[in-house]
Amino acid sequence: MAKASTPRIRRLEEHVVNKIAAGEVVQRPVSALKEMLENSLDAGATQINIVVKEGGNKLLQIQDNGHGIQKEDLALLCERHATSKLVAFDDLEAINTLGFRGEALASISFVAHLTVTTMTKDCAHGLRITYRDGHMDPAGPKPCAAVPGTTIMVEDLFYNMITRKKALRSASEEYSKILDMVGRYAVFSKGVGISCKRQGEARADIHSLANASKLDNIRSVYGANVARNVLPFEQRMGSGADLPKPMDTPCFMAEGFVSSADYSGKKSMLVLFINQRPVECGPLKRALEATYAAILPKAAKPFIFLDVRMPGPHVDVNLHPTKREVGFLHQDALIEAVRAAVEERLLASNNKRTYTQML
Ligand code: ADP
Ligand code: MG
Repeated sequence: MAKASTPRIRRLEEHVVNKIAAGEVVQRPVSALKEMLENSLDAGATQINIVVKEGGNKLLQIQDNGHGIQKEDLALLCERHATSKLVAFDDLEAINTLGFRGEALASISFVAHLTVTTMTKDCAHGLRITYRDGHMDPAGPKPCAAVPGTTIMVEDLFYNMITRKKALRSASEEYSKILDMVGRYAVFSKGVGISCKRQGEARADIHSLANASKLDNIRSVYGANVARNVLPFEQRMGSGADLPKPMDTPCFMAEGFVSSADYSGKKSMLVLFINQRPVECGPLKRALEATYAAILPKAAKPFIFLDVRMPGPHVDVNLHPTKREVGFLHQDALIEAVRAAVEERLLASNNKRTYTQML
């Protein structure tokens, strides 16, 4: 084989870099919607309404009543690494917003048609503007009638990335991923009403109310059978998760709901938030499933909702562009403490049940 000549190294052009990065942040409709939902929460919205067409492949629309966007900032809105949330890297440890990378809207504008309508509270009218490849329409924003808040419309996702478009699942599968993600936030986000429906449908598939309790929201999202059979749960280690703690001391607070011995789900469900972010944690899920399987006879699958807080410096939120996983210190200690507490709660409810059955 002839020896290949040594290739030269070149810088990628900026739009190529942006398009590659966009594919990482926006993997499918649900990832675009998650970013937009988090933006609405970061904007202090108390009502968020989502409309989806064809599983989000055709349309994702999200309307919020948050603080809106200033006219002067619209030019930067979809520029990569432009954000109102983070200034210095060290701020990441204490970040209290869900976003911080300034990448989401930029990414979306590279892979879809993006239209933003926004109105700040002190403005008499709204502004509407479309974006493409990180830039706003050169004609500039147009005044329009609006209510305070922001509405973002994402159309024809991956219109310019044929392979990615082909790799998407059916509209119904994409939509069920969307409902799964929105449902988690609907339960977690107390004080915020969240609705999600298919375009053209009168009835929303998710509809949580701003003034409802977590248990009310569990009922409306996961059904009466789940809500009837969950036990409140609390466990802490160290104390005062909001206080600065030495890095070598495990410290967390976990609260939520775990299904009782009377509940038997078809598949197990772990809704986990760590420092307000919905995350996956395989080892914790497996430990909890094993605990249920050992105690309950018919391999009943659990429903578990956990809200875990720990000191900011113990969590690395920057593991992945989608922020789906976070890294945290003392993972084994946390898993074992939560598992043991769930076991105790479950055993107590199981004994009570056995006792009642004997009567
Ligand atoms: P990040 O959330 O990491 O800052 P994004 O690309 O998601 O990056 O958003 C860029 C900026 O646009 C945000 O920092 C915020 O100032 C503004 N923004 C986005 N969505 C909204 C919204 N729904 N309401 C108000 N401001 C928004
Ligand atoms: Mg964001």
